Amino acid sequence: MNYCSRQEAKKQILDARSLTFLTGAGISTPSGIPDYRSLKGVYQGMDAPEYLLSRECLENEPQKFYDFVMQLYHPTAKPNIIHQKIAMLSNEKDVHVVTQNIDGLHEKAGTPHCTNFHGTLYACTCHKCGEAVAWQSYIQSDCHAVCGGQIRPNVVLYGEGFQETIVQKAMQAVAQADLLVIVGTSFQVHPFCDLIHYKKASADCLVINQTEIYLPISHHLLQEDASHVFAEL
Ligand SMILES: [Zn+2]
Repeated sequence: MNYCSRQEAKKQILDARSLTFLTGAGISTPSGIPDYRSLKGVYQGMDAPEYLLSRECLENEPQKFYDFVMQLYHPTAKPNIIHQKIAMLSNEKDVHVVTQNIDGLHEKAGTPHCTNFHGTLYACTCHKCGEAVAWQSYIQSDCHAVCGGQIRPNVVLYGEGFQETIVQKAMQAVAQADLLVIVGTSFQVHPFCDLIHYKKASADCLVINQTEIYLPISHHLLQEDASHVFAEL
């Protein structure tokens, strides 16, 4: 790992023709969306988010699941400078985003090629009949008016598998990039962090994060708040 300056990080991003951003909760905190770590604070003494966001909780304690998931909705949150600049780069370059975030802010910012690796809160389905349901209905009630079934958001819950098509899309996005930019994530969640193994041998990897992360490949690290460097792009 080599440390790099903001200037060097900017140059790498601006010089690349094909970029894939791998993003996490840290890029949405400036939009007022708390990450799980701070939710754990809020939920101290209660069940862990790992249980509250699990298939088991959805099926066995639906009210508890619903109450927790409602805490994750921030429908009025706006994309911040990081989402906006990534979307702007898409106008000039071949840009793909693979995000762990379920907040829909990359799409709101207008990023055309975004893979929501863990799904999105802003698309829902009836767990019983399989019909698509608007998230606006879900935040009113988790009961599907048509069949009486339980509505759920299309996010990957603990205890559920990943959709093969989503994983394939994410792998392709990583494989085609000349530059991978990892932003706002501790990059420890599997299988998201395993995507790095699909990188082209010739591709560079830039990490923009407030703390060092473990990566099994050589990379550059800009250790600061990502908002600063994106504001200057
Ligand atoms: Zn239904």
